[in-house]
Amino acid sequence: MKNYFDLSGKVALVTGASSGLGVQFAKALAEQGADIAICARRVEKLEAVKSEIEALGVKCFAHKCDVLNVDEIREMVKAVEDHYGKIDILVNNAGVGDATGAADLSDETWRSVLGTNLDAVFYVAREVGKVMLKNGYGKIINIGSLHSEVVMPLNTWPVPAYAAAKGGVKMLTKALAVEWARKGITVNAIGPAYFGSEMTNDILSTGGFDPVAQAYCPMGRAGKEGELNGAMLYFASDASSYTTGQILFVDGGWTAM
Ligand code: NDP
Repeated sequence: MKNYFDLSGKVALVTGASSGLGVQFAKALAEQGADIAICARRVEKLEAVKSEIEALGVKCFAHKCDVLNVDEIREMVKAVEDHYGKIDILVNNAGVGDATGAADLSDETWRSVLGTNLDAVFYVAREVGKVMLKNGYGKIINIGSLHSEVVMPLNTWPVPAYAAAKGGVKMLTKALAVEWARKGITVNAIGPAYFGSEMTNDILSTGGFDPVAQAYCPMGRAGKEGELNGAMLYFASDASSYTTGQILFVDGGWTAM
């Protein structure tokens, strides 16, 4: 039986893979046979994830990187290229949450949310893009959000910095997709609604989210572990060879209303 999502022989770099969705993405790619590179700031967590991935029967290379530092991004990308000789797949996943209202949002918080969730997505894509352009092949998957498209409803929580950054990720995805479409590189994005992670566990566990999901999410619930893997494997594999510049919302129908 043909496996349309086979990633044997591919090398995938996942940023922000020390916790949450990044770990899930790295494991899903490994389960399809890709060798993995992971990066984040917390080295002990990365080492634990590395062992879990190696137990799946593929190679894993872990490298510390603060994506707020462009020099560290350059060093990390070079280290991954030196280690594996190529990078076929990039999952641009590192990110931070923020729900500060606009009037209270400090310059520092604005810069760190935009710096992590938008600037770094570009810097990592640019550096990895150079490697992919050399090889004439690449699959870039940027992690956007429900908030690439819509903000939270009135009387819930504000997301001005987060939404500005994730909206930027959607348009950056289109811009890179068009620029590199004839160079063998596809660039797509996934827009998850709310999934359990270090970023969202407080929101999801305190009961504040459930009534919002009932009112605004047709499926009436948060996403479950594994429900992003199909979208990830589609964009990471050659199943999506004619798909570029798209953002796929995995949101229980939220953005359909
Ligand atoms: P987590 O907080 O669990 O994971 C965030 C990851 O990003 C961690 O591995 C963290 O690693 C890394 N990270 C944060 N800042 C930096 C930095 N400066 N340099 C390097 N790595 C960094 O959250 P999620 O798994 O939920 O988030 C993953 C992505 O998914 C984010 O882009 C988020 O916006 C997006 N998303 C999540 C949703 C959800 O409901 N969970 C919904 C929609 C989008 P470390 O701290 O070790 O550096």
